[in-house]
Amino acid sequence: MGTEFTDYDPYDFANRRHIGPSPAEMDDMLALLGVDSLDALIDQTVPASIRQAEPLDWGTPMTERQALDALRETADLNVKLVSLIGQGYYGTITPPVIQRNILENPAWYTAYTPYQPEISQGRLEALLNFQTMICDLTGLDIASSSLLDEATAAAEAMAMAHRVSKSKRDVFFVDADCHPQTIGVIRTRAEPLGLSVVVGDPMTDLVASDVFGAIVQYPGTYGHVHDFTATFSALHAENALAIVAADPLALALLKTPGDMGADIAVGSMQRFGVPMGYGGPHAAYMAVKDAHKRAMPGRIVGVSVDSRGNRAYRLALQTREQHIRREKATSNICTAQVLLAVMASMYGVFHGPTGIKAIAQRVHQRAALLATGLEKLGYTIEPDAFFDTMTVEVGRLQRVILDVAVAGGVNLRKIGDDRIGISIDERTRPGNLEAVWRAFGGDFAADDFEMGYRLPDGMLRTSDYMTHPVFHMNRAESEMTRYMRRLSDRDLALDRSMIPLGSCTMKLNATAEMLPITWPEFAELHPFVPQDQALGYKALIDDLSAKLCVITGFDAVSMQPNSGAQGEYAGLLTIRAYHHGRGDTHRDICLIPTSAHGTNPASAQMAGMKVVPVRSAENGDIDVEDFRAKAEKHADNLAACMITYPSTHGVFEASVAELCDIVHAHGGQVYLDGANMNALVGLARPGDIGADVCHLNLHKTFCIPHGGGGPGMGPIAVKSHLAPHLPGHPQTGGEAGPVSAAPFGSPSILPISWSYCLMMGGAGLTQATKVAILNANYIARRLQDAYPVLYKAKNGRVAHECIIDTRILQDSAGVTVDDVAKRLVDCGFHAPTMSWPVSGTLMIEPTESEPKAELDRFCDAMLAIREEARAIEEGRIDRDNNPLKNAPHTVEDLVGDWDRPYSREQACFPPGAFRVDKYWAPVNRVDNVYGDRNLVCSCPPMEAYQEAAE
Ligand SMILES: *Cc1c(COP(=O)(O)O)cnc(C)c1O
Repeated sequence: MGTEFTDYDPYDFANRRHIGPSPAEMDDMLALLGVDSLDALIDQTVPASIRQAEPLDWGTPMTERQALDALRETADLNVKLVSLIGQGYYGTITPPVIQRNILENPAWYTAYTPYQPEISQGRLEALLNFQTMICDLTGLDIASSSLLDEATAAAEAMAMAHRVSKSKRDVFFVDADCHPQTIGVIRTRAEPLGLSVVVGDPMTDLVASDVFGAIVQYPGTYGHVHDFTATFSALHAENALAIVAADPLALALLKTPGDMGADIAVGSMQRFGVPMGYGGPHAAYMAVKDAHKRAMPGRIVGVSVDSRGNRAYRLALQTREQHIRREKATSNICTAQVLLAVMASMYGVFHGPTGIKAIAQRVHQRAALLATGLEKLGYTIEPDAFFDTMTVEVGRLQRVILDVAVAGGVNLRKIGDDRIGISIDERTRPGNLEAVWRAFGGDFAADDFEMGYRLPDGMLRTSDYMTHPVFHMNRAESEMTRYMRRLSDRDLALDRSMIPLGSCTMKLNATAEMLPITWPEFAELHPFVPQDQALGYKALIDDLSAKLCVITGFDAVSMQPNSGAQGEYAGLLTIRAYHHGRGDTHRDICLIPTSAHGTNPASAQMAGMKVVPVRSAENGDIDVEDFRAKAEKHADNLAACMITYPSTHGVFEASVAELCDIVHAHGGQVYLDGANMNALVGLARPGDIGADVCHLNLHKTFCIPHGGGGPGMGPIAVKSHLAPHLPGHPQTGGEAGPVSAAPFGSPSILPISWSYCLMMGGAGLTQATKVAILNANYIARRLQDAYPVLYKAKNGRVAHECIIDTRILQDSAGVTVDDVAKRLVDCGFHAPTMSWPVSGTLMIEPTESEPKAELDRFCDAMLAIREEARAIEEGRIDRDNNPLKNAPHTVEDLVGDWDRPYSREQACFPPGAFRVDKYWAPVNRVDNVYGDRNLVCSCPPMEAYQEAAE
């Protein structure tokens, strides 16, 4: 034992937890690149002209323990009362078995969107269960696998109704009994699309011949339960569509939207086991009649077969999606709410229809009990018949009752100046009812009254639901635990291997960052509690916003957008409002490079802008001359340009400042798509480069896990002149309308990004950026002799990602980019981003979190794949029957006859694959064409499982 003291800090999160390569590994990597230091590499890579002047700094980074202490103190500033506010958000009990095994389990929360079906069968099955449950509850034919929240789903439904309605009308009717935030988001969406919105009572004010569609709330925000059958027939007679925003728990007891003739149903699945989280994240659902399935926004899981004819799940009808249809897309939805949809679907599996019905009945009985007590006190309850929500006329007593209720630990809903709304939920206890009675001046005990029913006559549900065997397991927790484990074992997530998806930044989601999101002080707050009960959230949001301003070089932030694409949409709306505020209502042209992410043109179209595409030059940069020519041509009407920086081709283009100048010179504003901020943080700031607004994908750069396809957060940062036009909200005010249901989008996942910033410090974040660039350049260097690296800056460097060209294999060996992607599954990897932004290529983004050994394992796999292709080129193996064409291989390939010209060993254990810890894809290659021709988007009947097993 020596006596020297080490200066190694075991708690230095920035250097030794979050950042993958060790200092010694970095030295080796830099040596391969032929540079002396990390800073020398960065100087070569990031143009001096854009480097930020001051280093990023906000004091000493915290250790994990310090950060958790800070989070604890912040959480304690929130006051956790029982909220019976309703208005779309309800207390719910997350079954602990789901909290621990889904929400807190990296096998579920670190997975990517299931674009590669062979490594996503587990979450695809969970989402198919979700869709099946939604179809059953709503009585409609086909459901998608989640949207962002109820209000945006309602706005999507409006836009969809306008697309499919055979009427030529532009007026949309909205039930005044819709939740205020739903009405707000619909209004925001309608205005730039040129649609007008009429809000009123559907029973008296709706003129079917005036509208292309109408939406009603069921039950209404104040509790009414109406039968809309006649209203919907009247709409149909005029070629207008009928939309219902329905509470899924109420549907367990009440006549379905389908039975009333609705074309579309939307709603929130929050109360199926997903905590309120001060507004999100939660999954919204949408279900439609079969005739409208191709016009539906969002992703749909479908059933297909694999190359052995076995059942396999996949995303269906993907050609409707924004990344393919661009400005003609059905919507801009990319990241949705998969993790939350999985939770809700597991809640359904856990409780089954019997449990769901029992929960709905208990909720209703408690509501009826509460009403009986209030009536005894002389209050009039509206409506007479209800499910869980009632409104009480209280006149001047409103303030007193609300205050006494708060003193008794209960929040009620303030409606106008003389009414109070109360919504009962799964968590409501008899003691809570007693507290409410006390607030109204009554001293009752819950067992003073008989349990009763007040559901409307003739509206009771008679049809079965959730009849599929998956919702009828034996209900032992062992069975539930094993079901969830089985599904997660079928999937490849970050807890098993790197996921080198270009543009998606699949970095470490550190455990310490994840812990606070399930603390009740963050998880159980209703979004509309009085502000003095949410001071912890306020402190967190204010500090994170300030840090994001410093990082981006902007002046103000809106946390409202709950995905990157919503950020784009919100950012473009602020630009639009700015122009309109100056009287420039004609400015509606948006320049977008052809290489842009598909959400860019889809969002621009939603914001009422006309997309003018700009070419890319030979080297992948934006073609400056084309850009200038288009800007000049449209100078009078130029609203904005959207650029991604560093570009989607993975290089820092030196011309970016020039592009910004051109747009400004012609009166336009610059929108910067911040998806690639992982290459900029601490090195360069969008605000300094010349942008006016950008969004940040907190679920990419700032460590929120991808959740298998959501949740996300896409806050926007703006220069001061745009700040007055940031999204407002009916609850919190502001000039502009809301873009999301909740004022701060999905705030319960913000502790993740905040603790990341606290533990990294400014210097740590900067180091992360540098190492992300190092890792990408290391991979590019190791692969460049086998595959051309498509775009490099003049000095041969790439940014934080690189595109490799696999088209050479297509020409020489008939090997497609798909074959390479599927063979990577055999090697134990998720494929990089495929065929975007250039068809036939792979875009690799390793992030800073991957150690050298993992980068090497990936490079070894890619090099071995190149050699397998060489065997085809040289005629040593058949062009159609080889490990690449037959990939991925499954355990089925280990047994039975084997007549292939390569060994089972080569098939199943190529370089990269682990021996003992081998990841086995559960299915062979999935047939996409079959799935779209034979569209099945709910759980197949049990007999079908039988057949598949035989
Ligand atoms: C991920 C991404 C988006 C969209 O973000 P979502 O959160 O999925 O909506 C937009 N642009 C680029 C370049 C992206 O990589």
